[in-house]
Amino acid sequence: MFARHFIDSWDFAHKGKELRGEIPVAEMPRLADMLISTDGQVSYVLRGYQDKDGNPMLELSLDGLCQLRCQRCLQRMDYPVRLVSRLMLADTQPENELSEDEYDSVPADPHQDVSALVEEEILLSLPFAPKHEPGACQAATEGLLQSDGNPFTVLRSLKNK
Ligand SMILES: [Zn+2]
Repeated sequence: MFARHFIDSWDFAHKGKELRGEIPVAEMPRLADMLISTDGQVSYVLRGYQDKDGNPMLELSLDGLCQLRCQRCLQRMDYPVRLVSRLMLADTQPENELSEDEYDSVPADPHQDVSALVEEEILLSLPFAPKHEPGACQAATEGLLQSDGNPFTVLRSLKNK
């Protein structure tokens, strides 16, 4: 049975804590909405630390597989989730001029849901319009088969219509 983990993110970063686990894709509803199947799970390692300027940071490493729907052929497409995100904890809402785009920042939360953090990072990483590689896509292959690769056959069938 899957149990949600909650951390005090400020404390987690300052004490350099580490947490690892696995989250079933089915437990991440916003992510599951984007997928063709909720099979599978994502492993995570969450590490707290302070950067060279003493800012409290979270480093989230993810490893797993999601099953997206290819926007061209509408078939299943395996999408490996392999990413490392570094998030700076902010004690207040981040100010625009403070951000140097080096890190994303998240508000510190004494009751941070780890799955929500993992889900958010995966959502941010997903391609906007996922498509198979041209050679691997069902739609492209079927198109070739129908016209048998000969442009004259296509022309002839158009004339006869
Ligand atoms: Zn495809």
